[in-house]
Amino acid sequence: MDAVKTKPAKSFNIDEIRKDFPILERTVHGKPLVYLDNAATSQKPQAVIDSHVDFYLNHNANIHRGVYQMSTESTDAYDESRTKVKEFINAPDSREIIFTRGTTESINLVSNTFGRFNVKSGDEIIVSTMEHHANIVPWQILCGEKNAMLRVIPINEKGELLMDEYKKLLNEKTKLVSVTHISNTLGTINPVKEIIELAHEKKIPVMIDGAQAVAHMRVDVRDLDCDFYAFSGHKMFGPTGIGVLYGKAEYLEAMPPYQGGGDMIRNVSFEKTTYGEIPTKFEAGTPNIAGSIGLGIAIDYLNKLDFNQIHEHEMKMLNYATNEMEKIEGVRIIGTAKNKASVISFIVEGINPMDLGIMLDTMGVAVRTGQHCTEPLMTWYCIPGTVRASFAMYNRMEEVDIFIKSLKKAISILK
Ligand code: PLP
Repeated sequence: MDAVKTKPAKSFNIDEIRKDFPILERTVHGKPLVYLDNAATSQKPQAVIDSHVDFYLNHNANIHRGVYQMSTESTDAYDESRTKVKEFINAPDSREIIFTRGTTESINLVSNTFGRFNVKSGDEIIVSTMEHHANIVPWQILCGEKNAMLRVIPINEKGELLMDEYKKLLNEKTKLVSVTHISNTLGTINPVKEIIELAHEKKIPVMIDGAQAVAHMRVDVRDLDCDFYAFSGHKMFGPTGIGVLYGKAEYLEAMPPYQGGGDMIRNVSFEKTTYGEIPTKFEAGTPNIAGSIGLGIAIDYLNKLDFNQIHEHEMKMLNYATNEMEKIEGVRIIGTAKNKASVISFIVEGINPMDLGIMLDTMGVAVRTGQHCTEPLMTWYCIPGTVRASFAMYNRMEEVDIFIKSLKKAISILK
């Protein structure tokens, strides 16, 4: 298959990067778009968009089934994408990369297979106060079915995990620890390596929800030594509807299948079915072929950039915005961890977050409002919700200025 080529390697030049994301040129309500909802979903570079068009225009055929050329092209591109993912997160083996619909499905896969298989009455699963609902509800369902217990790592006011409390939670009943790498609401970057080491000292496996991490930092699952790592393509400049579960082969091989159907079997009879090897054992039915290929193209795109430069740029925006917002009367930033990603959640005294979001939208600024699928965290802070601005590598400092100016104006109108 003629892969859609990403442009040659480039140094970190925002103007050049922005040219690759055509949607950033649009206007909303007659104003230039300032897209600051990157934690919800990122925009897509032209190369990812082109890969979809190219697939459906030139190569569309089902994978792993046909002997004809188009099916071979499609299969090769799908398999190549798995290898790209493996290399991107430095997984030891591409058999350990399962394509899913996204982080949510990756976590549900583990709870429905590893969880159902290993968790018994009286066992415990550890999550944290700052988890997204996707890393709470699947474990809650499992605990309900198994009469097991969900234990929750507490946080401090800044939104940092209380590691001493975490250590106390680890015990012989703990069957899994599942925590987020970066909080989508607070921006906190959790010390996942230490979390994993502490659990492994007690031979407890660890799953990391990497939904917010993969677009902002180099994730190395081998270095982390995590047992499972989940993420979504759409938050890392790839398509929606495609995600990844990385799992250590020793676990994946021992786990029962997630869903039954085509492709995941070795032999089927009415008496007995035997299952295929990993990863296909976990990929029943026709997968999101175009999405997987598009994810590979997003990885190609990111590979041409330098994560240190991305980080530096995002930290500049975060620190500048934070300083400016601290000067605005009535603004309270929720999530002030020492180690933070480019996410700012905040509330403004006397103003409903939704009203603020709607007002900012009229000025062209797209932010998120509400609970961000972290209702227990909102309950912990005793707030109904926040406004959240989340920056990505393609945002400009000038956009941060527009955001701050618009915020001040919106507050003056709404107060
Ligand atoms: N975990 C975190 C930390 C997230 O931010 C999100 C999405 O916002 C998810 C899980 C769920 O991701 P998806 O909806 O792509 O499955």
